[in-house]
Amino acid sequence: MKKDNFKSPDFYNIDTLFNEEQLLIRDTVREWVKENISPIIEDCALSGNFPKDIVKKLAEIGGFGGFLPTNYGGSEIDFTSYGLMMQELERGDSSIRVLSSVQSLVMNTIYSLGSDDQKQKYLPELASGELIGSFGMSEPNHGSDPSSMKSHYSEEKDYYIVNGSKMWIGHAPICDVAVIWAKSKSNKYAGFIVERSTEGFSTAKIEKKWSFRASETGELIFQNMKVPKDNILTETDNIKILFDRLNIGRFGVAWGSLGIAMECYDVALRYSNERNQFGKSISSYQLVQQKLVKMVTEITKSQILTWRLGLLMDNGNASFEQISLAKKVNVEMACEVAKISRSILGGMGITGEYPIMRHINNLEALVTYQGTDEIHTLIIGKKITGVSAIK
Ligand SMILES: Cc1cc2nc3c(=O)[nH]c(=O)nc-3n(C[C@H](O)[C@H](O)[C@H](O)COP(=O)(O)OP(=O)(O)OC[C@H]3O[C@@H](n4cnc5c(N)ncnc54)[C@H](O)[C@@H]3O)c2cc1C
Repeated sequence: MKKDNFKSPDFYNIDTLFNEEQLLIRDTVREWVKENISPIIEDCALSGNFPKDIVKKLAEIGGFGGFLPTNYGGSEIDFTSYGLMMQELERGDSSIRVLSSVQSLVMNTIYSLGSDDQKQKYLPELASGELIGSFGMSEPNHGSDPSSMKSHYSEEKDYYIVNGSKMWIGHAPICDVAVIWAKSKSNKYAGFIVERSTEGFSTAKIEKKWSFRASETGELIFQNMKVPKDNILTETDNIKILFDRLNIGRFGVAWGSLGIAMECYDVALRYSNERNQFGKSISSYQLVQQKLVKMVTEITKSQILTWRLGLLMDNGNASFEQISLAKKVNVEMACEVAKISRSILGGMGITGEYPIMRHINNLEALVTYQGTDEIHTLIIGKKITGVSAIK
């Protein structure tokens, strides 16, 4: 069986809802993944190696911050196109979507909060892949509750002094530049752009991960780190400014997890048509058809939800809570679809001959990162009841 099977389940003619440009971007990324990622990803994941040489190649197809203006290295694509890009990258592997979305998150933060000088200095080089970025919000003891972060800063004459650390940070071990968040004694939050050469800045790699294996994840460590005054992004009393940065990341996970589900369905459908037991293809058995129908049903519901979210984003109307719902629902859906797919593949489902176990492992991180399933439930719960279960 061919492994690079990239057809789309499209039971409700969702493709007709996308315009020509959106479909062109999706198909271009799909082809790019087929050529550049499919042949190497299983080995990268098994050996735990990030394929650094694909950074520039992904930049060449507009993989970083594509929704930003062209003068900052973007290509002014709409958010639906960006979502379709995330869908196709994550169909290849979560680590590749992470590469694109962390870089885009860093760029979007600098674009929306930074000065003109900061934008000119960092955005084009992040867009071209000359610089690799990290976004540091989570801490060893403060993941779901970043408002209680312990990283702190104080203002000196010529610079800011920052102490603390950030945990679970995508690309931390290899980043050239990091956007990080810290708190002051007077409970203000500030974002800073930190270059790797900054005095007092270091990184460490998290080894022995079973998820995102082809991605570098690690720690950012600040020991009396001296950040030049020019590198502050914002200083605010309002944590919402920080939380709003997360929208673009969560939007990416909603589309990306849909991509995983589509791939798992596709592989299972082909396998079930080709695999014979008891003298017939297993797809001819009612119990297997029931599984395939369940998969396509759940994918179709998520496709409609995700398309609608793209439209809301493009119109500037998507709420934080709507993005939460799509992130939560699509990851949940992809977990279910991936597990059904694995069962259809029987023993082959656990091997690296097929991508299913790799996707299942990646989905375990998706349940937690960019806000856990529980935290998104509470965000939506607050929206519909008007009562916060958290603070
Ligand atoms: C592979 C990976 C990559 C990541 N990349 C980044 C990155 O690039 N940048 C970044 O800043 N962060 C990153 N993260 C961090 C991620 O956002 C956090 O892991 C996540 O927010 C959860 O925090 P935690 O792991 O500390 O879990 P905790 O916050 O300790 O949660 C543990 C459990 O308790 C539950 N819980 C917590 N509070 C409540 C509550 N009030 N009610 C009910 N249940 C609750 C949670 O839902 C969870 O099930 C990454 C994480 C992973 C795993």
